[in-house]
Amino acid sequence: MEQVLGPRKKIGLVAHDNKKADLIEWVKFNRQILMRHDLVATGTTGLLLEEELGVGIHKLQSGPLGGDQQLGGMIADGEIDFLVFFWDPLEPHPHDPDVKALLRIAVVWNIPIACDRASADFMISSPLMESAYQRRVPDYQTYLGRYAAQP
Ligand code: PGA
Repeated sequence: MEQVLGPRKKIGLVAHDNKKADLIEWVKFNRQILMRHDLVATGTTGLLLEEELGVGIHKLQSGPLGGDQQLGGMIADGEIDFLVFFWDPLEPHPHDPDVKALLRIAVVWNIPIACDRASADFMISSPLMESAYQRRVPDYQTYLGRYAAQP
């Protein structure tokens, strides 16, 4: 199955505390492009991005309070097209299971994830950001039907 994404994408944004400055700088640099998409962010990241961009964006709970899980739920519901998640590789977090779950569910649904500045630069400069894209949605019918009655 495929999902056709229009030129306007739904972008999820999250940055751990040590990476927030990085994300803000990236967002500032890419402001013009990002303004053409719909942005969703975990609570504190969202607040900082609103200040930087001067526009309201869709804010979820703070990450450690459930925001990462909310984003994961949105991915499972097909409501996120691209995830920018600057996670911190040098510090443990109380919500490490949520971090892992978010990264996992993005792969489950074949959602592009940028975990650092370089990946984010490459991805945002892709022509696919501004055009339609047919995202292949993995087929989980075999998995879902594993308890179906055998003929
Ligand atoms: P925050 O959450 O944007 O609310 O700081 C980010 C995270 O740690 O997952």
